[in-house]
Amino acid sequence: MNQVVAIPSDPTGAAGKVNLLDFDRQGLRDFFTQIGEKPYRAEQVMKWIYHHLEDDFGKMTDVGKALRAKLEATCYVGPPKTLFEKAAQDGTHKWLLGMDGGSAVEAVYIPEPTRGTLCVSSQIGCGLNCQFCSTATQGFNRNLSTAEVIGQMWVAAKYLGNVTHQNRRITNVVMMGMGEPLLNFDNVVKAMSLMRDDLGFGLASKRVTLSTAGLVPMIDKLSESIDVSLAVSLHAANDELRTELVPLNKRYPIAELMAACQRWLARRARTSITFEYTLMKGVNDQPEHARQLIKLMRRMPTCKVNLIPFNPFPGTRFERSGADDIRAFQTQLLNAGVLTMLRRTRGDDIDAACGQLKGQVLDRTRRQAEFRKRLEGGVAHAS
Ligand code: SAH
Repeated sequence: MNQVVAIPSDPTGAAGKVNLLDFDRQGLRDFFTQIGEKPYRAEQVMKWIYHHLEDDFGKMTDVGKALRAKLEATCYVGPPKTLFEKAAQDGTHKWLLGMDGGSAVEAVYIPEPTRGTLCVSSQIGCGLNCQFCSTATQGFNRNLSTAEVIGQMWVAAKYLGNVTHQNRRITNVVMMGMGEPLLNFDNVVKAMSLMRDDLGFGLASKRVTLSTAGLVPMIDKLSESIDVSLAVSLHAANDELRTELVPLNKRYPIAELMAACQRWLARRARTSITFEYTLMKGVNDQPEHARQLIKLMRRMPTCKVNLIPFNPFPGTRFERSGADDIRAFQTQLLNAGVLTMLRRTRGDDIDAACGQLKGQVLDRTRRQAEFRKRLEGGVAHAS
């Protein structure tokens, strides 16, 4: 759901200094030890960064003056810069965020009556080439750093006036933006540990979800590394069709993927996996496809299916399934006892829905004009 645009600048503007957003709690403690400070000071600073969303060391009032000066001289709190932000009719909000090296990605916030979900990117572009995803058409640029992943949440939280613990605006995070999070394993795990940490954003494991196209060995590694929720992008329940839609299936076919999912479930009590299934007209939305999916889900009784109506983008050969087919598909699954949700399409008037980036990327000139306006002091607000 995100995009890359070329921006002629270093968005952090802090070359040479250490970005504290790159550290999880242990990393920050180690760093403080390295600079001759007590590790508990790191935790004090962490609270300022993630609870108070403070990036100015001068305002960290319970941190001693000498340490504040030392931090100012050698470090910075460097979230990505907001190039512009935009709100949709339905309250969905997206930010275009500038990253080091001249690219930008989007983060999207989706408010619902009982929760607020932030969709976060893990890579600039993606190398997996899933046929129905517009990120694939952009190729792969690079992995995002830890700071660039957690920084997306920091920026959104600050903008939304997020409060940790009570009345938080961002109650859930999904790693469902641009990129394959398991191919940027270390940085994504560190960022998710900051999302989970009480001194970070303090979200429960059920509320931080990593979505993968199915990198089997990394699913096992993730299971051993951190307690978060797992979503698997399935999109087809037979190998022939899945390989066509998600080429990674050739390497890790459905049986191997399901075995990894079983291992994931075996390690955790009372846990579930969400299987994402994007519905494309005449491709994977027929009763026979539902039957195949039901058969697969029989061995996953605690799991659920999340149906996503395909979001079209310019140049795609796929179409969204018709409303009747979507309803019939869901009913068939529900009647077979498969817990099945239908994801409502959100933010499509600002191209913030899953997989809607290509159109924006084609329009590079306008983005760069917006960026220049912002550099010149204008407020680059696109809505
Ligand atoms: N690489 C990870 C995360 C990024 S994609 C993964 O594959 O899970 C996150 C979700 O966006 C995927 O489940 C996919 O179903 C969905 N998606 C991508 N393009 C889409 C499109 N055009 N319409 C609807 N959903 C799409």
